[in-house]
Parts: sequence; C-alpha cells; structure tokens
Amino acid sequence: MLMKRICAWCGSTQGFKEVTDFRWRGKEPVTHTICPECQRKIDSEIQSVNLQTHNNHQSE
Ligand SMILES: [Zn+2]
Repeated sequence: MLMKRICAWCGSTQGFKEVTDFRWRGKEPVTHTICPECQRKIDSEIQSVNLQTHNNHQSE
C-alpha cells in the first residue's frame, strides 16, 4: 500500500512511500516529513535560537 508523504509544515506532497505496516487505524495513510524548503527555514530558526541561548546552554 502506498502511504502519502506530506510536509508537516507547508502541507506539500513529498511523494509516496510503500508500506506494509498498518499503524494508522481508520486514518488516511499519510506520513509527515519535511520538504527541503521548510527544512532550511527550520534550520535557520534553530540557528537563531541557538545564538540567543548560547550563553545558557551547551549543545546537546
Ligand atoms: Zn514544506
């Protein structure tokens, strides 16, 4: 069965994945991923957060 992969951030379709594992129950067969565009956005947000909190936290 094909499970649709969608970007969890912008909702764009990122392709389909063949699955044999039916973990969703009564739900649409959708898995969430992140598209390259949103990944860049998240990365830059993480970097800015790291800069803001750099004095208080070491990287984990
Ligand atoms: Zn996206």
